[in-house]
Amino acid sequence: MLRYLVLFTFYLVPMILSAQKGFDDYFTTGVFRFDYLLSGKNNYARVTPLQQKLEPVWGGVQKLQVDGNVLGNYRFTVKDLASQTPVFQQGFSPLFQEWQTTAEARAIERAFYQVIRFPFPKNKVLLEIDFRNRDGIFENIYTVILDPVNYFITKELPNFSDCVMVQQTGDPSEKVDVVLLAEGYRKEEMGKFVKDAERLTKALFSVEPFAANKSKFNIYAVQTPSVESGTDIPGRNIYANTLYNSTFYTFDIARYLTTTDLKSVYDHAAALPYDYLIVLVNSPEYGGGGFCNYLSVCTSDHALAEKVFIHEFGHEFAGLGDEYYTSEVAYENYYNLSIEPWEPNLTTLVDFKTKWGALMDPSTPVPTPRTPEFANKTGVFEGGGYVARGVFSPMDDCRMKSNKPDSFCPVCQQAISKAIQRCTE
Ligand SMILES: [Zn+2]
Repeated sequence: MLRYLVLFTFYLVPMILSAQKGFDDYFTTGVFRFDYLLSGKNNYARVTPLQQKLEPVWGGVQKLQVDGNVLGNYRFTVKDLASQTPVFQQGFSPLFQEWQTTAEARAIERAFYQVIRFPFPKNKVLLEIDFRNRDGIFENIYTVILDPVNYFITKELPNFSDCVMVQQTGDPSEKVDVVLLAEGYRKEEMGKFVKDAERLTKALFSVEPFAANKSKFNIYAVQTPSVESGTDIPGRNIYANTLYNSTFYTFDIARYLTTTDLKSVYDHAAALPYDYLIVLVNSPEYGGGGFCNYLSVCTSDHALAEKVFIHEFGHEFAGLGDEYYTSEVAYENYYNLSIEPWEPNLTTLVDFKTKWGALMDPSTPVPTPRTPEFANKTGVFEGGGYVARGVFSPMDDCRMKSNKPDSFCPVCQQAISKAIQRCTE
C-alpha cells in the first residue's frame, strides 16, 4: 500500500505543478512578431524567415488556449522549449494557400508576405508552422527556436497614427478588439474615413449575433493617410499610390480585393491592442476579401459595401466558408470531396456528425431540396464552397452566400458566437 502511495505521489506532484501553470508563467507583456515569406507552387510550400519584432501590446485573452481545435488551412504552435508544453496555438488561412489552387500555381513559383503574432514569451520557445494537406491532416513545414533575449529582435517604437475609438467597451484582454485601417484616403479625407468606419460598424452590429454581443467589441479607426485616393484596378489600368498597396483583380478576379503588403498593414496597427484587422479601402467599387484569423479588406462606398464588410468579416472572424457556388473564382477543385472541410458552415457529408445536425429539425431530409418548403429551414443543401455538387451548405441562402438575406444562417451564427466566446472568456 505504501509503495503504491509513494508511486502515486511521485507522478501526481509534477502533473499538478504543470497543470497550475498559466499564461503569466509563460508570457510577459507585449507581442512577439515573426515575419516570413510563404512561397512555393501548387504542390509544395516553404517558409523563409524575414524578421523578428517586439510589439508593445497584446490584445488577446490572457489565458492558455491550446485545444488543438483550430480553424484555417494553416496553424502555428508555440511550445515552451524546456518542457515542450504547447502554450499558444492559432489557425489561419493565408492568401498563398488559395493561390496554390489556381492554374498559375501549377506553372510558376510565387512568394507571399506573412506575419505571425503571439504573446511575448519569458523563455525560449519552439515555433512550429503546419499546413493542412489534401487529406486534411496537419503537416509540419517549419520549426524554429526563438529566444526572447536575442538582440536581433527589433524593439523600435511602432508607428503612431491618429486613432478614433468608434466603440470602446472595456479591457482589450476581455473584448474582441477590431482595428480598421484607412487605405486610399488622403490626409484631408480622414473625416470621411471616420464616418465610413462608423457606418460600417453600425451595419455590423445590426446583424446577429454581433448585435446581441455589441458590448463585447472594441472598435478602433486608425487614420493612416495615403498619397492618393482609391486603390489599384489593374484590369482597367487604374493604379493609386496607397499605403497598403491594396488591389482588385487578385488572381485576375475583378471583384477580389486584397493586399499582399502585410508588413505595412501590421506595422501601422502595432501600437494598438487588437485581435482582428480590417483594411477599409476608399472606393465606390464592389468587392473585398477575408482571411481566417487575421485580415479582411473591403470598400467604403459601393451600394453593397456594408453587406460585403459583414461577409468578409465572417471569413476572418469565424473562419466561415463561402456558401455560394455560381460566381466565378480562380480556384480549381478547392475542396477535397472525400474529406470533411474544416469550415464550420460547409460539409461534404463525409463526417456530418461533426457539423450542424443538432441545429436541424429531425424531419428535414438530408440532402435538403432547394424548394420553397425548406427556404427558411436549416438543412443540408447541395451547393457551396464554389461548386454545385459535392459540397453542402446549411441554408438555401445566407450572408455567406448572397448579399440578399437579412442575417447569417443559424450555423454561421453559432460559429460567430463561438469565436466571440473564444476572444472574451
Ligand atoms: Zn451560413
